[in-house]
Amino acid sequence: MKAAARTPRRPRKATNPTQKDPVGVYCRVRPLSRADQECCIEVINGTTVQLHPPEGYRVFRNGEYRETQYSFKEVFGTLVVQKELFDVVAKPLVEDLIRGKNGLLFTYGVTGSGKTHTMTGSPGDGGLLPRCLAMIFNSIGPFQAKRFVFKLDDKNGVDVQSEVEALLERQKREALPTPKTPAGKRQLDPEFADMIDVQDHCRAEEVDEDNVYGVFVSYIEIYNNYIYDLLEEAPCDSIKPKPPQSKILREDQNHNMYVAGCTEVEVKSTEEAFEVFWRGQKKRRIANTQLNRESSRSHSVFIIKLAQAPLDADGDNVLQEKEQITLSQLSLVDLAGSERTNRTKAEGNRLREAGNINQSLMTLRTCIEVLRENQLYGTNKMVPYRDSKLTHLFKNYFDGEGKVRMIVCVNPKAEDYEESLQVMRFAEMTQEVEVARPLDRPLCGLTPGRRLRNQAFREELSRKLELRGGPVGAGPEEPSAAELFFQSFPPLPSCELLDINDDQTLPKLIEALEQRHKMRQTLAEEFGKNVLAFKTMLQEFDSSVASKENYIQGKLAEKEKTITGQRTELERLEKKIKTLEYKIEILEKTATIYEEDKRNLQQELESKSQKLQRQASDKKRLEARLQGMVTETSLKWEKECERRVAAKQLEMQNKLWVKDEKLKQLKAIVTEPRAERPERPSREREREKALPRSVSPSPAPSCGDPAELGDSRVAPRVPRRSNSCSSISVASCVLEWEQRGPSCEPASIPKPRNKAGAEPGSAWPSPARRRGMCWSRVLEVPRDREELEQEEDPCCRSAPAAPLRPRRSRSAGERWVDHRPPSHVPTETLLQPRVPRAITVDAPSERALARCDRYLLTHQELASDGEIQTKLIKGDVFKTRGGGQAVQFTDIETLKQESPTGRKRRSSPPNPDPAGDAADSEWTDVETRCSVAVEMRAGSALGPGFQHHAQPKRRKP
Ligand code: ADP
Repeated sequence: MKAAARTPRRPRKATNPTQKDPVGVYCRVRPLSRADQECCIEVINGTTVQLHPPEGYRVFRNGEYRETQYSFKEVFGTLVVQKELFDVVAKPLVEDLIRGKNGLLFTYGVTGSGKTHTMTGSPGDGGLLPRCLAMIFNSIGPFQAKRFVFKLDDKNGVDVQSEVEALLERQKREALPTPKTPAGKRQLDPEFADMIDVQDHCRAEEVDEDNVYGVFVSYIEIYNNYIYDLLEEAPCDSIKPKPPQSKILREDQNHNMYVAGCTEVEVKSTEEAFEVFWRGQKKRRIANTQLNRESSRSHSVFIIKLAQAPLDADGDNVLQEKEQITLSQLSLVDLAGSERTNRTKAEGNRLREAGNINQSLMTLRTCIEVLRENQLYGTNKMVPYRDSKLTHLFKNYFDGEGKVRMIVCVNPKAEDYEESLQVMRFAEMTQEVEVARPLDRPLCGLTPGRRLRNQAFREELSRKLELRGGPVGAGPEEPSAAELFFQSFPPLPSCELLDINDDQTLPKLIEALEQRHKMRQTLAEEFGKNVLAFKTMLQEFDSSVASKENYIQGKLAEKEKTITGQRTELERLEKKIKTLEYKIEILEKTATIYEEDKRNLQQELESKSQKLQRQASDKKRLEARLQGMVTETSLKWEKECERRVAAKQLEMQNKLWVKDEKLKQLKAIVTEPRAERPERPSREREREKALPRSVSPSPAPSCGDPAELGDSRVAPRVPRRSNSCSSISVASCVLEWEQRGPSCEPASIPKPRNKAGAEPGSAWPSPARRRGMCWSRVLEVPRDREELEQEEDPCCRSAPAAPLRPRRSRSAGERWVDHRPPSHVPTETLLQPRVPRAITVDAPSERALARCDRYLLTHQELASDGEIQTKLIKGDVFKTRGGGQAVQFTDIETLKQESPTGRKRRSSPPNPDPAGDAADSEWTDVETRCSVAVEMRAGSALGPGFQHHAQPKRRKP
């Protein structure tokens, strides 16, 4: 978020970053109210207190007994008097105030621990506040400026006025309907008269006598995070009292926080100041009663502002330069009780209010904690001053605007143990916070001792005047105007007649008198003329003055009108400003709440998005895994399907081929010359009939069209064991198979169900197919060896098959007819049949058979597990008597491939089709019992077919 642009600020008040003072924390233990009360706090020495858990607490905490000690800058026991406390804690702050530095002093503790007693005091035993006031006035009393010389502006600043302006303002104020009682003649409220009767006349040592001073006090209350002005003169309606208007906080150009629009009263004496305080106190009490508030839940702040400005070079008047004025302030804060809400047993609004009040104390604790953390660990965490009015107002103090001192008040009674513990912990932590020391006020540059010199001069002058007895500058030697005028008159001759005949004296006298008379007349005329001229002038002046006056009056009226208009406008703007400020305050509050909400929501959002990301990555992983599985499975199944389709095609081709074969052979039988038939020994025909069921011509070799082959016969040879079994024509085999029909199926052989669970009727192979499947079926379903042996063709056993022709000599080397039907499907088996020098055919031809002595048929069929099973059926080629070729089968080699995990895979996913499952289990059972790939050798006890029959039985678990 982009930070809003701000107006450039003035530099802060100068502080010394290298010199820091820790917050001075003092502890005051008040005496117990009753002597029989259990005490849990003990003063160990001047700096340490010890807390020991009371009896009940120990029982409550399972007998845990732990004493804790806390150290402070100084501990004041129960016997310590207010003056001692004042001298140690508050006096340095007042001295700083007079030196132009700020200070903050607050009392902290639970209700009833003596905070108010410490701050305000009780009758006859004034607390820190009246003592501070007394010390200030004792120190600056003779150097105070006349009222209204200093004038506070409404921006936390101060102006200086000339003596005349101040006089005019005084007269104006005095003319107001509520004249103030002159300071000296004040009738003190007997309730607090005792409190300010501070006899010790404490005064600061370093007071700049070349300065003039003005003291202003203000008194505010912070309740429920609202600031109220306790000195505001508001019309009081006792019937329907109006709730007090809350004030807002502002920052001045020096970044100091102040309460905007707060009443600040200029006071000239301790009494006057304390009276103002008392007025506020009364108002606070009334408000508490009227609004049903709990007094212990509000913070009271008494602010003493001291303005000082240097005298001019004569030491006569205040220097009229605003920059030379210093304004320092001392804030005396009596905090609300620090006990937790539940202790106050408040409910509803009260509880909420108490929560807010506690909130401000909690914010104070948080601020102190953060400050401490920042200072101890060098972190730069934001101190949440703005979270409460209390901390916001005093933020400057912690930022280095002056000394901060705290008096922790504790009541040693056992009931307060837990709360006192909390107070102690907070106090200990506060001590670790350091505040930058403010720099000393710069000197004004004028020679010191101006006031004294001026005083000395005045004293000297008045003494001189007293000696002369007249106004300064009117000397006896200087002739007056009247004297000079009379001197210009002709002197009178002597009027003394010396004899009777003296005729000169009288005429001289007459002449002189006449001259004088003439002069008098001239002067009178002159005077008359002058009077007239003056009168005329006066009249003229009067008229001009009158016209000017009229003009001025008109102008004045105009100006007054403008002023009134501007004043109204100003008032309107002020009102607007107030409304806007109020709105800003509300908006700030709302913004804070929203920011808090935003922070919480952002945190929630972050945690949720993290969770979502985690879930998404999990999902992706799962998807990838599933995708892999799906691909793998689908590939496998595709392969499987391909294989099955190929096998099915093969099977169908086999079926077709068997049918064709059957038809061909039937045709051959039908078309065979009748004459030849009887020639066939009956025994042979019988043998043909009794062709063993088990030695099925399933992989019936493709012998081609009998017409093409002539009388050539393809007959399976009985096992070599007998070695006497004659070759039997495939046609007779087929016939025999047909005649036996399905009944030839051994009763014990279960009809296999196909995988899709179709009924055996539909899936059961046709007779030809069954013939083709005979091997496999026998392979699939194991039976006892004896039973299998019984099923063999008795003729095969009893009558040894005699070859029609002796075998060709092998010395010449065997030559094979490699018969691979066109439907042959290439398999992936590693072992592949490769017969050297073989004649490869896709259908047996007579020519090929005539040139070879061995026959190899590659037959493929579907095994029980769905794999393609390749059988290499081997046989010997013989010449028949009719000149044709006959093949006698001797061995079968089987090539089969199966997956080592096939069984597991099949059993793992549950098959929704129970029929399919059953079939599977049957197949699986067969698989378990069957060998994977077996080459059947001639010469074994039972021959290839029987060896196959026997094998599963041997493997049966
Ligand atoms: P608080 O302001 O913390 O709620 P108060 O200052 O009102 O507590 O004190 C409660 C009572 O205890 C008052 O009656 C007060 O006179 C008395 N008291 C407190 N501290 C002392 C003390 N140091 N010496 C004597 N009495 C005290």
